[in-house]
Amino acid sequence: MTNDRYEAVIGMEIHAELRTASKMFCACPVVDTTVAEPNTAVCPVCGGLPGAMPVVNKLAVEQAMMVGLALNCQINAFTSFARKNYFYPDLPKGYQISQYDDPIATNGWIEVQTDDGEPVRVGIRRAHMEEDTAKSFHHAAPGGRGYTLIDFNRSGVPLLEIVSEPDMHSAAAALAYATKIREILRYLGVNSGDMERGVLRFEANVSVRRRGSQTLGTRTEIKNLNSFRALVRASEYEIARQIEVVESGGVVVQETLGWDEARGVTVTQRSKEHAHDYRYFPEPDLPPLAIDDTWIEEVRQSLPELPDAKYRRFVAAYGLPENDARILVEDVALADYFEAAVRGYGGKAVSVSKWVVGELAYLMNRDGIAIERVRVAPESIASLVKLLDAGTISQSSAKDVLGTMFESGRAPEAIVKEKGLVQISDQDQLAQVVDQVLADHPEEVTAYLEGRESLLQWFMGQVMRATRGRAQPQTVLGLLRAKLEARR
Ligand code: ADP
Ligand code: MG
Ligand code: ZN
Repeated sequence: MTNDRYEAVIGMEIHAELRTASKMFCACPVVDTTVAEPNTAVCPVCGGLPGAMPVVNKLAVEQAMMVGLALNCQINAFTSFARKNYFYPDLPKGYQISQYDDPIATNGWIEVQTDDGEPVRVGIRRAHMEEDTAKSFHHAAPGGRGYTLIDFNRSGVPLLEIVSEPDMHSAAAALAYATKIREILRYLGVNSGDMERGVLRFEANVSVRRRGSQTLGTRTEIKNLNSFRALVRASEYEIARQIEVVESGGVVVQETLGWDEARGVTVTQRSKEHAHDYRYFPEPDLPPLAIDDTWIEEVRQSLPELPDAKYRRFVAAYGLPENDARILVEDVALADYFEAAVRGYGGKAVSVSKWVVGELAYLMNRDGIAIERVRVAPESIASLVKLLDAGTISQSSAKDVLGTMFESGRAPEAIVKEKGLVQISDQDQLAQVVDQVLADHPEEVTAYLEGRESLLQWFMGQVMRATRGRAQPQTVLGLLRAKLEARR
């Protein structure tokens, strides 16, 4: 999308709901807002009743610290809350409690890699805590008699906003960054990454500038990108649009945009003249938090192994090909599954990984099933690879068996037995089949002996047909060669 003369600049704001049992400033439970009965998890605090007093959720603060540490940020010893004032039906208090001057985490970075392998280091400007808003549901009706219903279950759910530096220069880099942030949040267990449930939302700030220029161009901000696809399409569209504006002698107007998924265009929501003045001021109902080093160290100790470290370990300890390791590590649940399978086998990690990122991943993609819902137990994958490595079943039978395991969740041994797939590797038994095939095809034998060596594969095919694919190929090949040579 960027051409030779222009460079795109992208900075991202990512909103992630934290995964606590209760809300940010009250004891209401955090419920799955896509299934819970509306307005069943609301109290005077998150309902915004006058005089109700907020209390900070300690676990939410710890989860914010975890994210800050995982993103190589400084965790600030002094962190305070602020009121961000604006009026909207989904904001019952008329302000959102957020952080402004003293965010909990600042000055971090992560390294990401685009699909074509280009490494990008993205600075993290800050991560701050806030509360989510309620959710509006607009119902259209004929004659302009539509109405809006509001569900306050989401009101006050802990939210972390992660703000990057403008360090990305393509939609691909923005995608790699957003993917990595989601990955890290899932590793930390602080967010499910379930974009369909809206627990993770992206905003992309986009500008363009002359290649080689160090100053930033005027940016637009694309709000509410609810999928990776929307992030990529909207960024690409916006980069191309801005280049066109500048090329044709115009200037980019600073504004807030929305993404129209159906039409594939960005649309103006508000321009700078109508920009919000949030009139931030310190939240008088909450004291600032003092975070001492002991607490930070405790949280640091509690961090799980993160994707980069896991990747290095998978390559070093298991000897996995880099590409396999990368695929496994992208999803912590898949990585755990793989390790459980390796434990089940007691070794041979490379064969296990080959089946997990190969045939199993293929079946998962085909049916759109996440690893958490796959019916094949890790131990069963281990057993399957064992059967294959021991020569009990052939490569093609193994695929067949895995297909059945995937449908039924049954163990491979039973399926192998039932389908009669046990590989024939017995010399005497195979020798009989080979003799029969050669006896049935005297012309081909003569042709082979006269120099048509390619017929060897054809004989192989005949043996496979006679054994319904169960013959052990190496043994058959050896027998064929020997028996044909013996006829010279
Ligand atoms: P605001 O809070 O008003 O949105 P910030 O200065 O905090 O403004 O910036 C928000 C995001 O916009 C950050 O991720 C930052 O990296 C990005 N950003 C700022 N200026 C630009 C620019 N000229 N081009 C692209 N991204 C930018
Ligand atoms: Mg912004
Ligand atoms: Zn509440």
